[in-house]
Amino acid sequence: MLEKVRGIILSNTPYKETSKILQIYTKEHGLIGVMAKGAKSLKSPLRALTDNFTYGYFYIYYKEGKLSLLTQVDLINNFNNIKTDIELISYMSYLCDLTHQVLNESADAEIFDILINGLEKINDKLDPLIITNIIELKYLDYLGVGLNLDKCNKCFKTTNIITIDPDVGGYICKDCYTNETMVSLKTIKMIRMYYYIDISTITSIKVSDIVKREINDFLNRYYERYTGLYLKSKDFLSKLVIK
Ligand SMILES: [Zn+2]
Repeated sequence: MLEKVRGIILSNTPYKETSKILQIYTKEHGLIGVMAKGAKSLKSPLRALTDNFTYGYFYIYYKEGKLSLLTQVDLINNFNNIKTDIELISYMSYLCDLTHQVLNESADAEIFDILINGLEKINDKLDPLIITNIIELKYLDYLGVGLNLDKCNKCFKTTNIITIDPDVGGYICKDCYTNETMVSLKTIKMIRMYYYIDISTITSIKVSDIVKREINDFLNRYYERYTGLYLKSKDFLSKLVIK
């Protein structure tokens, strides 16, 4: 039976002379393999709609655990602002790679909304580093190494939080502080806001450079230490845009 699913193409591989095999991350079925017959041929209407990062409605004959068959695609958002900016393309590549990794650990449908809402906000010209950090922070829960941003990570008290440290794995209060990295009070508050905010509701976002940098540094170190993920696209992104 023909089914309409909402999804984004995370990767595509040529298959035989004229076809492609797509990995589509869908809201309905999670990550699925899809055969796009003839999609490499110049005449095919699928040709332009089967590249990476195509976000739309996919009409497929769904086969659980096997390759589904693609018949048609209706674009939802072409992410034109992202696709015409090399820096933003790097963010999108990284976020799609990261999502692919997260999906190995969890099939929670919430992940789909986090990714799509984030890409839409980046396409709407919101600060891509802030949006990326928000997504990274939210994904930690699905990677099984979520942060508790309500209390001290050592004594579990909720008062007098004075810093956040990746080695301790979260907040530290005044009484438990020894010699951890210090961050500004704004960073402590803002990272909590990053975690709890619903990305779809963000219309503008103002964060000072120092807070942005402290949160990004924290997340990089936390990811390195607790997730075991290494993504080439992150490496590339760091060299390109994050100074
Ligand atoms: Zn404490």
